[in-house]
Amino acid sequence: MPKDSLRELYVNELKDLYNAETQLVKALPKMAKASSNAVLRQGFEEHLRQTSEQVSRLEEIFEMLGEKPTGKKCVGMEGIVKEGAETLAEDYEGALMDSAIIGAAQRVEHYEIAGYGTVKAFAELLGEHEHVSLLEQTLREEKETDEKLTQLAGQINSQAGRGEEAETESRETEGRQPSKSKSKRAA
Ligand code: FE
Ligand code: FE
Repeated sequence: MPKDSLRELYVNELKDLYNAETQLVKALPKMAKASSNAVLRQGFEEHLRQTSEQVSRLEEIFEMLGEKPTGKKCVGMEGIVKEGAETLAEDYEGALMDSAIIGAAQRVEHYEIAGYGTVKAFAELLGEHEHVSLLEQTLREEKETDEKLTQLAGQINSQAGRGEEAETESRETEGRQPSKSKSKRAA
């Protein structure tokens, strides 16, 4: 591929990521607010701060390129954020909602990891070493966030699972039919 068109593709991918990150600056506080687990909530607050820095890193790269970061909508992230909003609107409670939120959050991080892996590879090919180191920092943060979420899921999912058992038991002892609404789950 001629360098000119690779550069164009690179700039387009960066714009896509820039838009994705700005969507997340709005979405992360909602995920934090909906989390019951304090560690999960603090994790989202911490990642919100990182996300603002990631936006600044991209702005720095655009400045070096003499390009504007705006003008592209990341439809992929829009879809992931919409699904996340649907999750938050469910009537899951406690650990079960936290498990659902972690699932939504990991989709976000994996999408970002794919995007940053791609632009980092392009920056390497284009010999943009400063960009590479900035993109690498962000990529590391996204991977660390994903790993933290996996670790937290280990605890929280089993709590959510115990809530399920407790509910099944109480239904059996009380001779009730499983209720359609899953809102009253012990967490
Ligand atoms: Fe990010
Ligand atoms: Fe992220």
